Order: sequence, then structure tokens, then C-alpha cells
Amino acid sequence: MAAAGTNHLPVIDPDDRAALRSAPERPMNRALRLLCVLTVVALVGGCVSLTPAQQDRAAEVQRFADATTHAYGMMPVRVTVQASNRLGIGGVYRQGNLYLSGDALDSGHLTALAAHELGHYLLGHEPISGVSMAEFVKAQERRELDANAKAVEILMRVRGMPRAQAVRTMVVYLRSAQNAQSHGTPNAPGHRPAAEEIADLIARFPETPVDTPQVVRASISPPPPLVVPIWKPGDQWTFWSDSPRGSGTYTWSVDREQTIDGTEYYVIASSTSQGVVREFFYQKSDLAWRMLKVNGRVESSAEPAQLRYVWPLVIGSTWEQTVTLTTMSDGKSSKEINARSCRVTGEEAVTVTAGIYRAIKTECRDTTTGELVSQLWYAPEAKHWVKEWTKYTWGVQEREVMSMRVR
Ligand SMILES: [Zn+2]
Repeated sequence: MAAAGTNHLPVIDPDDRAALRSAPERPMNRALRLLCVLTVVALVGGCVSLTPAQQDRAAEVQRFADATTHAYGMMPVRVTVQASNRLGIGGVYRQGNLYLSGDALDSGHLTALAAHELGHYLLGHEPISGVSMAEFVKAQERRELDANAKAVEILMRVRGMPRAQAVRTMVVYLRSAQNAQSHGTPNAPGHRPAAEEIADLIARFPETPVDTPQVVRASISPPPPLVVPIWKPGDQWTFWSDSPRGSGTYTWSVDREQTIDGTEYYVIASSTSQGVVREFFYQKSDLAWRMLKVNGRVESSAEPAQLRYVWPLVIGSTWEQTVTLTTMSDGKSSKEINARSCRVTGEEAVTVTAGIYRAIKTECRDTTTGELVSQLWYAPEAKHWVKEWTKYTWGVQEREVMSMRVR
């Protein structure tokens, strides 16, 4: 039963539908999964080749671990990267070692994952032995809840996060796990269903608003009108996305500027682990979206370019726009007409994984039905929206910024 004491968290693959589809549909029983974990741990020690970016992130986790053990006056923890595994286990803590999978290094949830595993270490969660399976499972489930809460404390104390941001960081991670579970990925061994872990965590921090933006009271003077931001090559944002189609994280980088038919565009590059290059074209003058190219071919486009903001961004301003969206799929194009009436509704404070931002909120309704179809929180400090809510025919998609590097 030694391996049964292993504490681990799954990694939720960044924007990886293929991984979701290939996730095992057949639920395995708990004992079998624990056995699988034993095998994974036994594999540790193999040589893993990492990209330079992955090496940087592994070093960053080691620094985070060192800062944590220093802050708590504990012996250092060694961070080791192991080959990614078919179980999708992202992190394992065991006897002074934090093992991360290669996949975890590419995930926007890496900070949450590392904080959770360090939580196990600080709480002394070493292998449980000499108990019945039922007692073990009960104790392990308790430990996972405690590690989530300890992670919040670590993020506040070591990373200096405000409490709401620290809780949000863990909740967003668990929401991705919950989404994967709803698509057939089994619960990580020793864990309660993610929805229950979220409820437990929120109950431990009851006074912290983690989901609802707070309306900012009218300031003494109204905020100055906001002008369109200037994006620089290298500016980048990492997002979390959650919808009935799946959940994941991905990074957008400003790659270049390009002029097409006399219009200047920013080209945003988004790469996936499968090596697919996606390029989003936004008009430089107003950040309206023109098209998406996948591996150099136009996959979808808007005519005219779809507005997300009208500059300067002023509270109370409104606009209407009718856009024809064209989507290419399997060599066939389909068109959709999209008519929206939008309004800049006010200033709100939003807590997202990246932090707490003062943002200007915009709401758009379907012009025909009057139904609310999108909400967007633009933060000047981020040069981008930090939170977005969109209603599609197939369900609601939520997105938020997890981290950023902007100049
Ligand atoms: Zn754990």
C-alpha cells in the first residue's frame, strides 16, 4: 500500500480536444487507478527532453518550491520532470519530491498544480500505510481538500496574491478538472469529484468573491476616455477557456503587424501542442476581428471586421453592427449573419487568475431577439479584455486571462 499515499493532480491539457476525445470513456475502479499510479511513479527517473521554454518553466517551479520551503522553514523539495503519461497526471508529491509531467509545464494551470503539491508537502502528507482501503480513501480525499486550501495560503504568502486571486487560481484549475470529468475523464485517484472540491474550497473562504465581478462605485471624477491600446510584438496573454465543448488554457502572442488591401492588422499567433499554427487578424485601428488562418489558410472571417469595442471606450456609449461570418470546413464554406446591439455599461472590479483588475464592461444583445449574447471586461492595464462571457447556440463559453506579459 506504500504507493497509495501518493498525492497527485491531473493536468488538463491546453485547448486539446484530441486529448479530450481520447480520454478513457470507461471508468476504471479506484484500486486499478491506484495501481496505475504506482507504475507511473516507478517510471520516474527516465530522461525527459524539454524545450527551452519548458526548461524555463521547470526552473520557475523549482524557484517557487524553494521560496515556499524557505518561507515555511522546511527542507527543500526537489522538482523533477517526468515523461507525460497516458493518465494525464500532471503532478505528484512524494517524500520530498515534486514530480511534474511534461504536459503540466505547458499548462496555464502550472502554478495551481505546483501550489497544490507543495501544500501536500507542507502538510506532511506522506504515504499512508496499515489502514483498510476504505480508511485510506477517506483519509486521502480529506488530504486533497486540505492541499487545495493550503495552496491558497501558499499563493498568498509566497506569491503575494490577494486572497480572491489565490482562491480564483485554484477554482479555475478545479473547473477545468470538472469539465474534463464531464467529458469522461475519470476522477484523479483519491479525489472527490471536482465539483465537490470546489464547493469545499469556496466554503473555506466564504467572504471572498471569486466569481462575481464587483460594481465599482462612481469615482469622484469619471475615468478618462480610453483609447485603443498599442500591441507590441512579444506581448502575450495566457487564457483559460471553459465551455460545454471542453476546458483548457492557451497562449496568444502578438507576432507581427501586416497590411492587407491597405488595412493594417495585428497578427496574433496561437500554437497548440500538435504544432498547428493559428493566426488571428485584428484591425490595428480598433482591434476588430477580421479572420482566423490555420496553417496559412483562412478558416473563418468576418465582413465587415467584427467590433468588440468602439474607441474611445466611454461608459454609456452604444453601437450596432451586422456582420457576415464565413466558416470553412472540409472545403465547404458556410455563412451566418450576426446582428448585435452593444452598450458600455460601467466600471467593475474583476478577479481573474491573473489578478484583480478595474475593467470597463460591455454587453451585447442579439438585435433580433434581445437576448444577452456577450459580456466583456476590458482592462487598460492588460491592453485586452481580462474576462469574457459568450453565448453560442451550443452553450456558454467563459474565458479569462491567467497571466500576461505586456509592454
Ligand atoms: Zn493532491
